[in-house]
Amino acid sequence: MEKHRDITVTSPLLPDPDELGRLMKDIWSSRWITNNGQFHQQLETALCQYLKVPYISLFTNGTLPLLTALQALRISGEVITTPYSFVATTHCIWWNGLRPVFVDIDPANCGLDPDKIEAAITPRTTAILPVHCYGKPCDGARIQQIADKYGLKVIYDAAHAFGVESGGQSILNWGDMSTLSFHATKVFNTAEGGALVIHDEATKRRIDYLKNFGFESETEVVAPGINGKMDEVRAAIGLLNLKQVDRAIAARHQAALRYREALRSVPGIRFFDDMPGVKHNYSYFPIFVNADQYGLSRDQLYSRLLSHGIYGRRYFYPLISTFSTYRALPSAAPDNLPNATRIANEVICLPMHHLLTPADLDRIIDIVANPDKA
Ligand SMILES: *Cc1c(COP(=O)(O)O)cnc(C)c1O
Repeated sequence: MEKHRDITVTSPLLPDPDELGRLMKDIWSSRWITNNGQFHQQLETALCQYLKVPYISLFTNGTLPLLTALQALRISGEVITTPYSFVATTHCIWWNGLRPVFVDIDPANCGLDPDKIEAAITPRTTAILPVHCYGKPCDGARIQQIADKYGLKVIYDAAHAFGVESGGQSILNWGDMSTLSFHATKVFNTAEGGALVIHDEATKRRIDYLKNFGFESETEVVAPGINGKMDEVRAAIGLLNLKQVDRAIAARHQAALRYREALRSVPGIRFFDDMPGVKHNYSYFPIFVNADQYGLSRDQLYSRLLSHGIYGRRYFYPLISTFSTYRALPSAAPDNLPNATRIANEVICLPMHHLLTPADLDRIIDIVANPDKA
């Protein structure tokens, strides 16, 4: 059999090393390598412009902004969230001493199903933590309506939703705050990194204290803060990656169009089309395998891809609610989460990044579109 190179599920956007070298020389000569340096400030400003949001606070990864948002908003008691996400979403609730309450997802966008949220609200509920899964916007209007009715905060885990807009507006402005991840696997990366999107100046100031141990000045500590600061080296990587992220998203879009064209007529394979009025970022390309119609199970297809050097990922399987830490919670019962449970058993995220070649896509499509071919 012909030997092919491996195709990974993702590939990080990388700055030109010479350009990065020039920025490193600036950092070295300033001898200011962290704590709100020049590139940190420049990246916050540039991201506010690019993302069309009023305030951003950079963090050293995408998990700390989640932890910090729950602290800053003084969330207590129970938090309604989705089991269909990366574990960090629920871990951050737990690390704040809060109780996660899992609610099922809507298969139309893999986000929280607004029809099922109200039944999960108790007198102890104080917040909803939805995820814009795969960068597909949640039903933000319905979620906000429910939050307003019951007096709840809404914190969006928008780790997948870099640059996503609906009706010409950033979805990052929804809710009380949104969090971003700039991990290497995301559409826009700083190697490790993240951010909180904030709507007003006073809260931005408070978040900046919280991510720096609570320091308000040299001698004044105003909160039990944490160290969540992004350093200058990674802010510089971010500034350079921001200049090329539109090109990367355009390349991802082309890959998504090719996948859709080739897989639309394959029985038992479902995928997402663009949503009307939404500017997508093509951060992932999930397909959902209906084994009865397709002829192979999801895991059979997954293994077949692997044996051809194609690395899909089963995002999000297993569900967070099935991990030993969480499965004893009453809301973690599979009966409570029928859509999430089914979809976690159907999903494969196909390789999706800016470096996929037409030949790569042909190889992947040839396998997915031909379940009969051994
Ligand atoms: C990546 C990711 C995170 C965590 O981000 P890190 O930067 O890896 O800490 C949180 N939530 C979701 C949904 C993610 O995909």
